[in-house]
Amino acid sequence: MKKTTGAWSQEIDARRDSLTALRRDFHRHPELSFQERRTSEIIAQRLHAAKLDVRTGVAGTGVVGILHGDRPGRTIAWRADIDALPLTETLEAPFASGTPGVMHACGHDGHTAIAITLAEILAARRAEMEGTAVLVFQPAEEVLGGARPMLEAGVLDHPHVDEVYGLHLTTQIAAGAVMVRPGPNMASADSITVEISGRGGHGAYPHLSVDPVTAAAHILVGMQHLIAKEVAASETAVLTIGQIVAGTKNNIIPASAIMRGTLRTFADGVRAQILTRLPAFAADMARAYRAEARVAIGDMSCPTVINHDRETAFVRECAVAELGETAVTDGKPVMASDDMTHFLRARPGCYFRVGIAPADGHSAPHHAPEFEMNEDGLPAGLRVALGVMLNALGR
Ligand SMILES: [Zn+2]
Ligand SMILES: [Zn+2]
Repeated sequence: MKKTTGAWSQEIDARRDSLTALRRDFHRHPELSFQERRTSEIIAQRLHAAKLDVRTGVAGTGVVGILHGDRPGRTIAWRADIDALPLTETLEAPFASGTPGVMHACGHDGHTAIAITLAEILAARRAEMEGTAVLVFQPAEEVLGGARPMLEAGVLDHPHVDEVYGLHLTTQIAAGAVMVRPGPNMASADSITVEISGRGGHGAYPHLSVDPVTAAAHILVGMQHLIAKEVAASETAVLTIGQIVAGTKNNIIPASAIMRGTLRTFADGVRAQILTRLPAFAADMARAYRAEARVAIGDMSCPTVINHDRETAFVRECAVAELGETAVTDGKPVMASDDMTHFLRARPGCYFRVGIAPADGHSAPHHAPEFEMNEDGLPAGLRVALGVMLNALGR
């Protein structure tokens, strides 16, 4: 039988305003990846005040809070990401971003506020708490760069964490609803650069040049066939070229062309297959046009987010206990990526989604300057987070 937070719901209700205020404060003061100095200072202050053991400067601007309950139990981590995006917010509100060109447009301000409040509620009931809660505040999710250095810093090893959980707010579902599904949840992401070298010359005499633009065009189209013809129809992959850079003038054949794109998949095997095949494919294709092509895979990469079956069933059970059966659905995997994947490859666990869609249903996508959160989703997220942590610690 699951212990629900029923007895603690008053505590959640009592903190509703402070939870919203905290989120609004982070929203007003967004900070880019690895520059979350003010954010991590506030996190550390709050955790110190709640009498957690606090580690700061983890992976640069990351913070870890460790809370030992008075009763024996397991060690469970809760991970929240804390960074904002390089966008200028269009929303007009007193708490709108005060930093031009930087905006919390993915909900990480909410993740941070929920995780701090979660720590404070657990700390206030330390005497009843079983086991050890490890609150992980990770920087730089938006550049897929913060998770790995935090793991390398040993955040799951000292103390040894048994399981890891976390949530992502989403405008794709109604406030108060939860999506939780086992297996692949979020796509892998790889940034890809294709550099094509030719030989420049006059546009009137292409036979005296090697035209990298024509080669690039064929490689671009061919890459789509690579997906269609070499990936099994039962699998999925997306390869988008979002940038082509070449040339200076209509009648000059340039010496080189560059294409940049992103690859998304839901299976490690498919990802490996395409990443292995792409360099040879581009090089062979370029050779047909007497050009040369090199493919580089960028650092901003991460594998598919895969939820563990047992821990996912557990989260679903907790979410249903907190919010009711109708509020909880499987949802579908999303093509977005998240470096939570590294935590879930290090320990069993589950990453689930909590709705923050506006009441009128008109939601702007994440990473858009019009992004807006329905703050009614925050206490629902906190409620499930608390249920998951309490039950996992004592399981
Ligand atoms: Zn994001
Ligand atoms: Zn995000």
